[in-house]
Amino acid sequence: MKKAGWDRAWAACALALTLSLALGASALAAGKAHEHGVARLDVAVAANGVSIELDTPLDNLLGFERAPRTDAERAKVQAALARLRDGAALFRIDPAAGCTLAKVDLVSAPLQLGPASTPAGDHGDLEGSYQFNCKAGARAGFVEVGLFEAFAGLKRVDLQVATPRGQLKATLRKPASRVVLAR
Ligand SMILES: [Zn+2]
Repeated sequence: MKKAGWDRAWAACALALTLSLALGASALAAGKAHEHGVARLDVAVAANGVSIELDTPLDNLLGFERAPRTDAERAKVQAALARLRDGAALFRIDPAAGCTLAKVDLVSAPLQLGPASTPAGDHGDLEGSYQFNCKAGARAGFVEVGLFEAFAGLKRVDLQVATPRGQLKATLRKPASRVVLAR
């Protein structure tokens, strides 16, 4: 009798484990596409500002996806971070909108940037958050994206753009750089 109770408990436990593994895998598949050569940009245009979220595999920026191990790799990380922090060069917004870069946040677990978290598996990402203040954000007709100039490993950028006039999806393929915001 006791043994049967244990068996049921084990079965329930195994089932719970299977469920949580399945949920974890599907959450990963739905939430974050990690494809080398491809980055994602979410651009939100409002009257008083433009915000841009970058999500990219580290491989596109560095050629590796872990903490740097040598002086050469550390130098590569520092050079990449300097370019990433230069948001006004990476994202050149139509001057008609009168935008200035206000804030840059970079998060990458393997590079120990942002909140402490454990890198998961063999792959690593970097997320960049860029906030521009604008005098007339709605007048922004385009953004010139400088990611291909800055990072040779990048081949394609998938964009989602939200403006006061609506939403659109766009794809930039190297060496194209201009995203049209107004139609
Ligand atoms: Zn990877």
